[in-house]
Amino acid sequence: MKITVWGSRGSICSPGSKTIRYGGNTTCLELRTTTGRLVVVDAGSGLRYLGKQLMKEPGVKDIIFVLTHSHWDHLIGFPFFAPAYKPEYNISLCGGPAARDSIRKYLGHQMSAPYFPVDFSIMKARFTYGCACPSDRCEGKLEGFLDFNECSSLPLNHPNGGYGFKFVDRGKTFVFLTDNELRFQHEGGLAREQYVEFCRGADILFHDAQYTEAEYVHTQGWGHSTYLDAIELAVDARVKRLGLFHHDPDRSDDDLDQQVNFCRDRLSLAGREVDCFAVADGMKLEI
Ligand SMILES: [Zn+2]
Ligand SMILES: [Zn+2]
Repeated sequence: MKITVWGSRGSICSPGSKTIRYGGNTTCLELRTTTGRLVVVDAGSGLRYLGKQLMKEPGVKDIIFVLTHSHWDHLIGFPFFAPAYKPEYNISLCGGPAARDSIRKYLGHQMSAPYFPVDFSIMKARFTYGCACPSDRCEGKLEGFLDFNECSSLPLNHPNGGYGFKFVDRGKTFVFLTDNELRFQHEGGLAREQYVEFCRGADILFHDAQYTEAEYVHTQGWGHSTYLDAIELAVDARVKRLGLFHHDPDRSDDDLDQQVNFCRDRLSLAGREVDCFAVADGMKLEI
């Protein structure tokens, strides 16, 4: 599986001279299975650039979206996704079990007047809504997910809910858990142990790490984790690589370097061998 990062920032786009290295686009990942299938995770502002890239790839006409939740920073790129306006594209939209029936509604809502000038109905791609999975475990009923050995979801601990996802391709596991607060109980959220179990042994985990401990004193309950929360989860779940994700919009490149060093120091003091890094826009990983 190949993972390309098109957006790793949280909450709001943060372009500028201080975010050049890690980037300022909000959540969007491109996954390519070993069989070449394309899966897009979240539709934050980074999606616009992925759309432009896909328009140059005439062989790719089937696009599967996996959407974690409907907060703006995870959907804002969708109205700017060029392939959605072209009739030759087939776009499947999966938002986890609870969003099977509502995904069309919330994508359409963000393009409705007076919020946006162009209505969703102008988009001419062929859309399919919902994973059609009867349970939290994707059973491959959406064509394309068959290319994964496993695709499963679990509820996020986040205001208004949402889902985290696990993708297994040829025995290699990538877990994506953003907008997940490990130290606070939100309605519908799970206990920390269940997140540890979900991440167990992952080759790569991207986890929400928006706040420092000092910031968290004021932001508890906002739906996000701290750097310490993320590394402790990675250690307990024995993941191999941890990508710190959903960077606070106020975090500069130098701030992020400092936080990565803090996490690496903590991990090495504890004698833990987790490869920890901050996810950056443009980053490419392969497992
Ligand atoms: Zn977010
Ligand atoms: Zn959110």
